[in-house]
Amino acid sequence: MLTSLHEYLTLKRRSIHYMNLDDTYKHKGLRKALIKTLREKKLYQNEVLLAMERVPRHLFLPGNNAFAELLYEDRAFHISSGQTISHPSTVACQTTLLDIKENDRILEIGTGSGYQAAVLKEMGAKVYSIERQKDLHDSSNKLLKAIGYTSIKTHFGDGFMGWKVFAPYDKILITCAAPEVPQELVKQLKVGGYFVLPLTNEDDNQIMLRIFKKSEEEFITEEHGTFAFVPMLKGKEYTKKKP
Ligand code: SAH
Repeated sequence: MLTSLHEYLTLKRRSIHYMNLDDTYKHKGLRKALIKTLREKKLYQNEVLLAMERVPRHLFLPGNNAFAELLYEDRAFHISSGQTISHPSTVACQTTLLDIKENDRILEIGTGSGYQAAVLKEMGAKVYSIERQKDLHDSSNKLLKAIGYTSIKTHFGDGFMGWKVFAPYDKILITCAAPEVPQELVKQLKVGGYFVLPLTNEDDNQIMLRIFKKSEEEFITEEHGTFAFVPMLKGKEYTKKKP
């Protein structure tokens, strides 16, 4: 029995902030099955798949437990603010292209749900991730900390500018479709490093590129197929939360 309005409001506030972080046998089983289908494609590094098997993907989606089967299919999902969490196969592809080594310093543009950042962390990388939408930055930051990924550094800012204080990076990853190759990011990449990004071309197709920085002036670019990402936009955005 509630004795006061204050008590009622306190309980209400608590329930809003309560996060269900369960990772049940059912979730683990669904995840195993997903990883098995990805493994059968023979396109991705085994270390990447093992890392993805450890990350509870369902926690990175709103309303997580209700649709567990769907969440562990190879599809993208809406998170909030018109943004998506990438297909598992896209995450596997981009992470494989990065060729992560233990302690690599990775800059990710587009934190979104935080899922890709968690996968990079599981691979032993030092992760720096930027998000331009305030509510997404806040929620993914909170979730990553709650799950235990406390060493992932997140930043609310415009990815076109990079994150200079922690530069240079061994590898850089963009998880939204870039209209051009952001030159500030090229500068913040070490010589000998990879830059993985989907680039929108004149026909409006998004081509996955892996750029190898051979020297300050020399680059080798490979193409790795067509994908579908939300656009990389300039500037920061303070999305108003719905009441
Ligand atoms: N890596 C994410 C995928 C999120 S979708 C995940 O695992 O869930 C791409 C994200 O890029 C969106 O959240 C979008 O807001 C963000 N984004 C778009 N342009 C950006 C920019 N200039 N700087 C930083 N983030 C950007």
